[in-house]
Amino acid sequence: MSKIIVIGAGGVATVVVHKLAQNSDIFSEILLASRTKSKCDAIAQDIKKRYNVDIKTAAVDADKVPELVKLFNDFRPKLVINVALPYQDLTIMDACLESGVNYLDTANYEPKDEAHFEYSWQWAYQEKFKKAGLTAILGCGFDPGVTSVFTAYAAKHYFDEIHYLDIVDCNAGNHGKAFATNFNPEINIREITQEGKFWENGRWHTTAPLSVHRQICYPEIGEKDSYLLYHEELESLVKNFPTLRRARFWMTFGQEYLTHLRVIQNIGMARIDEIDYNGQKIVPIQFLKAVLPNPQELGQNYTGWTSIGCRIRGIKDSKPVSFYIYNNCSHQAAFEETGAQAVSYTTGVPAMTGAYMFLTGKWTGNGVYNVEEFDPDPFLEKLSKSGLPFNFEINGNIEFE
Ligand code: NDP
Repeated sequence: MSKIIVIGAGGVATVVVHKLAQNSDIFSEILLASRTKSKCDAIAQDIKKRYNVDIKTAAVDADKVPELVKLFNDFRPKLVINVALPYQDLTIMDACLESGVNYLDTANYEPKDEAHFEYSWQWAYQEKFKKAGLTAILGCGFDPGVTSVFTAYAAKHYFDEIHYLDIVDCNAGNHGKAFATNFNPEINIREITQEGKFWENGRWHTTAPLSVHRQICYPEIGEKDSYLLYHEELESLVKNFPTLRRARFWMTFGQEYLTHLRVIQNIGMARIDEIDYNGQKIVPIQFLKAVLPNPQELGQNYTGWTSIGCRIRGIKDSKPVSFYIYNNCSHQAAFEETGAQAVSYTTGVPAMTGAYMFLTGKWTGNGVYNVEEFDPDPFLEKLSKSGLPFNFEINGNIEFE
């Protein structure tokens, strides 16, 4: 029985709070706090209707450590689930240290003025969390998150050494809009317009944005054009699995989506620096977010599936082995259960599951951890029971040499 705070009131937070309410024996008191309190109140009302569980709500600016510290000291939670934006990771970690609260997030810290993805800022908190006797769990969504746990599960049960890892992320859903992103547009567009990067033979290799692609066949979906991207879990996975000779990440994009993206970039709407507009400072990508469809509102007419997994090769008992582990998630089923589409669902369910692992004593330790450092078995067991079951295939055709 533990008190918990969720920060952020977007699509992912909506799913997290639904899942916490479904496990109210462990999450005995839930406070949902975000910049706009009315969004927290709307989620709380829906939860009350569906599960008769009371959710407290509050306004907080998570860029301000003193506001967070006051909130934490008033409510005294055991754990904070940060599903606001990556910009707030460090201020929330600082407030956790000041108030003696444990921490969990789903995306690594990014400075606002530079689209730069690396764990160094958060790994630098290792000694502080250790000394304080607190735990910080980083990257506990689907990717990063479940893909990292899938890799740990494969390494634990099916390999002596893993050598080649390809993370494959397919969204084969259709929301009926000409262009929309599936989670926060600003964060999403910053991520996919970056240079591609992969690990091979002990060093990082970079590629021009979205320049490397191939057809990949996804289970029950078929072939989709998939593009090599840099994704943050690669950084911690190559550190925690040093036998990896190559690690890559692939994501599907339709041609229509890529054409819109190219236009957005070419006309300067993906810029993250401030410009002067009629005497007012605006950041083009933030303005774009205001006019694009709200990812939270895509759910209603979203059909199709997501399919995310890991294709791994290595050796077991000196013999070559290949292993493919994945989850397929239906947009419609996610919407019917929580009012959010599958991209929010596949992020929110693992965040609740990580919190459940921590509060039930299955994932413990003082310091800062990436999820693949913990035991994957209880996590995957709980995740499967919570709406995201997984499948795997040994020595099938994983399509990658
Ligand atoms: P949304 O934009 O829908 O929601 C973000 C929420 O954070 C909003 O409610 C926003 O408030 C709130 N917020 C923003 N700034 C502040 C602040 N300074 N103080 C308090 N609250 C703030 O995002 P999503 O729900 O789509 O994504 C949430 C997180 O999940 C992101 O970090 C994203 O990167 C991560 N993610 C991780 C994935 C994974 O698999 N690991 C996949 C998808 C997302 P307001 O409502 O006022 O704007």
